Amino acid sequence: MSEVVQDTQQEFWRPPSPVAADEIIVREAVPAMAETCPRCSSEFLLGSRFCHTCGERRREAISPTARADAAVMARVWEQGVARMYSLGAALTSRKTWSAVWNKVQFPAWLRYLHFHEIQSWIGLSTAALIAFMIGLGCVAGALLVGLLTAKTFVDWQAIQFYRAEWLLAATAAFVAGILLKKSSGRDGE
Ligand SMILES: [Zn+2]
Repeated sequence: MSEVVQDTQQEFWRPPSPVAADEIIVREAVPAMAETCPRCSSEFLLGSRFCHTCGERRREAISPTARADAAVMARVWEQGVARMYSLGAALTSRKTWSAVWNKVQFPAWLRYLHFHEIQSWIGLSTAALIAFMIGLGCVAGALLVGLLTAKTFVDWQAIQFYRAEWLLAATAAFVAGILLKKSSGRDGE
């Protein structure tokens, strides 16, 4: 035991004997090998590098920390899947939907957006009102085209064409509405 360092100032994590330190380093450098063959699951012989049954190469064993990480990941995944299943079951059950439907209360002014409400307010026939709404949609499209930004002259030209097409469609819809109104008016007379 002459090699044992007697110095009390030695740092605590360092083993007192240099021989012991070398042994520890060597033991840590050699990776732990797998106990069983991954292919035929037969046990490896002591110190063997290949499987004696199927010849599969002996791999390093998965380190305990990696195994723990994998277990944690698997648990998180399982919990997530279970939560998704319960959410899906809740969404597909009709009871939930009817509960949500009863809970949502539409404001009173929304009834003014009903089709027949507008129809009685404007005084147009159904077909004329539909044409009028299509025309309004086309005007909105022509306005929305203005949100596009042109970087090149070709882009700018294309945007002008889009706008012209939307406005043409709006004009056509309004003309159709006028014609439909006239014909329905004539029918009413
Ligand atoms: Zn094997």
